[in-house]
Amino acid sequence: MTINDSTLRLARQMRSQIEGHVDSVTRSLTAAWVAAWDDLTDQWAAAVYDLVAAGAMGNDGEWPSRGQIIRAARAMHALGASRSALTELAELTGQQIAAELPVLTGKAAQWEARLIASQMPPTMGTTAELTLAFDRAGDDALRWIVDRTTQQVTVLAWPLTDEATSNMATQLIRGVALGHNPRAAARRMVHNLESGFNGGLARALTIARTEMIDASRAASFTQDQANTDVLAGWRWQATLSVRTCPSCLAMHGTVHPIDEPGPWDHQNGRCARVPVTKSWRDLGFDLDDPEDALPDARAWFDDLPQKDQVKIMGPERLDLLTSGRVSWDDLTTRRETPAWRPSQVVTPVRDLRDQARTPAVTV
Ligand SMILES: [Zn+2]
Repeated sequence: MTINDSTLRLARQMRSQIEGHVDSVTRSLTAAWVAAWDDLTDQWAAAVYDLVAAGAMGNDGEWPSRGQIIRAARAMHALGASRSALTELAELTGQQIAAELPVLTGKAAQWEARLIASQMPPTMGTTAELTLAFDRAGDDALRWIVDRTTQQVTVLAWPLTDEATSNMATQLIRGVALGHNPRAAARRMVHNLESGFNGGLARALTIARTEMIDASRAASFTQDQANTDVLAGWRWQATLSVRTCPSCLAMHGTVHPIDEPGPWDHQNGRCARVPVTKSWRDLGFDLDDPEDALPDARAWFDDLPQKDQVKIMGPERLDLLTSGRVSWDDLTTRRETPAWRPSQVVTPVRDLRDQARTPAVTV
């Protein structure tokens, strides 16, 4: 029941290949958003300049009233055009993600087989030979994951249009200070509108990253279910880096039953599921298992320079942890989210503070 160096090397390759698929979709969505805004920007510049001029004439240099804005034909037209563009972008988000899913899930299932094979005694054969010998996740099971993810993505992307359009309308009504330079005021307004429009992109990127990684984990899970005879469970693997959050660090290395899906980290999370085989003796080999090679997250963290520790934890969380008032495991909390799966998120500092105040129960 150990993860060896070769398993870790394969897990790294797996992650980089899966992230490559995710990155190609996020790059393409970003480019589509930029192009769509480019098409809208002249229309908005003209509409906003009208509003600035109306404010300068009618309202003692105040931004036009809500009623004036609603009567401003060019602004309403630009808002309608933005809504249409966002509707198309939301559809594109679903299509681009769905197009990657069959390849992505197929690869994830193959990688899982390799990760399992890498833990078998060398006398059994090479990882490549063994990978072929394992039972495969069925095509039907993988197709089911693709269909379910496609539906999920559609449901999640659907509100993106309304949210971004209503953010733009809010910006428009809130207005900007007009001052003496109408061009500068118009520029500020167009910039605010662009931020509202790009709020839709932020949501689309989160959906792409989260749902594509989840689909690859579901494919790994399915591969595991086809090989439960040799598996003891799976371990949660986070990237040990200063950009990794306290929740993922606390989950790193934890052991889970093989029939448990996951890892279910937070949105945009990139933790991996690493299958762990039964001990060699349990598999019928008279051999000792190799040393476990998965690094310990706490030991890694304790070795970091203090400035990096603060960067990861923030000063107060770090103080609570190093003074022993909260434990490493307290850093992560399971959150239930309506219409989405449960997730492990960073425990807020105020909750840690409360925990630290409550004395530990001793029996
Ligand atoms: Zn995290």
